[in-house]
Amino acid sequence: MSYQETHRRSLEQPAEFWSGLAEELHWYRRWDHVLDDSNAPFFRWFVGGETNMCYNAVDRHALGSKRGQAALIWESPEAEQSRTLTYHELYREVNKLAAVLKYNGVERGDRVIIYMPMVPEAIFGMLACARIGAIHSVVFGGFSISSLASRITDAEPTMILTADAGLRKGSPVQLKPIVDEALDLAETDSVKHVLVYNRDIINCQMQEGRDLDWYEEIEQHGQQYVEPERMKSTDPLYILYTSGTTGKPKGVVRDTGGYMVALHASMSQVYNVGDGDVYWSTSDIGWVVGHSYIVYAPLLKGVPTVAYEGRPDHPDPGIWWRIIEKYGVTCVFTAPTALRALRKFPEHWMKNADISSMRRIFSAGEPLDAPTYEWATEVLQVPVIDHYWQTESGWSMLANSVGIEDLPIKGGSPTFAAVGHHLEVVDIDGNPVPRGTKGLLVDYPPLPPGMLMTLWRDDERYIKSYWSHFQDKLLYLTGDYAIQDEDGYFFMLGRADEVLNVSGHRLGTREIEEVISAHPAAAEVSVIGVRDEIRGEAVLVVAVLKSHISKADEDNIANEMRQLVRDRIGAIATPHGVHFVSTLPKTRSGKIMRRVIRAVYQGDNLGDISTIEDDATVDMIREAVDAMQREL
Ligand code: AMP
Repeated sequence: MSYQETHRRSLEQPAEFWSGLAEELHWYRRWDHVLDDSNAPFFRWFVGGETNMCYNAVDRHALGSKRGQAALIWESPEAEQSRTLTYHELYREVNKLAAVLKYNGVERGDRVIIYMPMVPEAIFGMLACARIGAIHSVVFGGFSISSLASRITDAEPTMILTADAGLRKGSPVQLKPIVDEALDLAETDSVKHVLVYNRDIINCQMQEGRDLDWYEEIEQHGQQYVEPERMKSTDPLYILYTSGTTGKPKGVVRDTGGYMVALHASMSQVYNVGDGDVYWSTSDIGWVVGHSYIVYAPLLKGVPTVAYEGRPDHPDPGIWWRIIEKYGVTCVFTAPTALRALRKFPEHWMKNADISSMRRIFSAGEPLDAPTYEWATEVLQVPVIDHYWQTESGWSMLANSVGIEDLPIKGGSPTFAAVGHHLEVVDIDGNPVPRGTKGLLVDYPPLPPGMLMTLWRDDERYIKSYWSHFQDKLLYLTGDYAIQDEDGYFFMLGRADEVLNVSGHRLGTREIEEVISAHPAAAEVSVIGVRDEIRGEAVLVVAVLKSHISKADEDNIANEMRQLVRDRIGAIATPHGVHFVSTLPKTRSGKIMRRVIRAVYQGDNLGDISTIEDDATVDMIREAVDAMQREL
């Protein structure tokens, strides 16, 4: 069946379309209704159904014909180690850890924060939670104290799984000490235990009674078998925090059944991957791509998944290509930022390895710019497929679904809507715009399986953030600008809100502004994203200092502000530049006009600033712009 027909069927007959795909998986109890849309925009899939994600991802294969086949391949140039686990070995590890969690009081519905580097144990942690019905919330190991503390406060976990440290280009990245500080800062005393996987990278202090040693616990309380919980399809599997337009991260809540069905189906439909394939998503489990395509989707599909601890260019820029050669990787999923980083190096790094097993490379996380697309296509000699999605969607919203129909690629376009998604480009009133006109990308209800259920304990914010932008129209707002060409291909044109995309990861300007505003010398702070050759966007701070601060102190203050961001949020948010100006352009209501600052900094055409904001005072903006042009 063609893409057009399959897509149409998915929209016109969603129940028939998705129930057929759900039948490929194991259910303890079959669903009563495929879709319950009676309480829109809270869509619920496979209502009445009971299943277990871990059973489907691990037991189904470990107890079947794939028991001896590779499930998880861990490659760590950082630790100079690698490890391959079969499905049966993975099953053993997950059961043991599940028993440890239960022994230490983690119950169904409890939250468990996983703040770990990319080691197999972190993945055992996710699967063990899924097995016993605990809701995991993985926090990227590069985030720091404030980010972790705010997530602990919001999720109120019973337990935290962590390691002593991660590694970055051979240097330790502290984790356990950050957990200790975050726990002091968090506004909850929900955490009863911290389970510490000690890699002997740093010495860490263990708090008697609270902190537990991973190995000792497995030794003492690990068991061969822990019965998987019969979870309702609509029970949350995990919470994953992402940045929004306010300082408080949004806790995206994912269901169990709908997500499982969508991920399993996507392996064949979107990636055309199945038996005989080796799948590698170069992401990190701290991000949604890692949840979906390092862990759950490949395991559900029963294909080996590569988990990678390291960077694309360490110990040298040939490392990725050698891994592809070593394991015969057939499908790679990466981000434009990584491709841009690799493009800097001579081609011989790639040519020295046999990468002929690779059939396709998929890219997501940020726009795939034309030069990178062309370079990758030419030197890798495989189709490079852009696809678009977000933390909220859990899997792709726009894709060239090559398993359904391999459509012609247009460089820079993530092609068409994935099955189940009815996407349109609309104007500010929510009306579709003609082809070739820029607008906001929206999704028509009902949202397909796998999309977020709500925001953790905040239904109101879910509605406000995604569903209340248009009067009288219930449309899911992606937050992105897009345009469709005459053939209907979508092209993404960046965020429509104040959210940055650094190296394919979303950062909220407000979060960074709040941290920098805490510096005693700061009077006014604005954080913007500016073009960056490798990272896509870089963080730029433009601030006004308190009047008594002397020029001579500015360099020190800039360094302190940078350090503050590193310490509180994490290295990924470190400002690329910190600039001080005498005044910032604002609307009459006092809103800082980031677009104007960005244009001045980048030397872009300012356009007609009187129309930029309805209530802006043109003279005031002009004045600020003139001053900034001198000062930046
Ligand atoms: P995150 O939730 O951190 O994965 O970020 C999602 C955001 O990344 C989207 O809303 C887009 O702004 C951007 N994004 C993801 N994939 C693409 C893509 N293929 N092309 C353009 N932008 C993308």
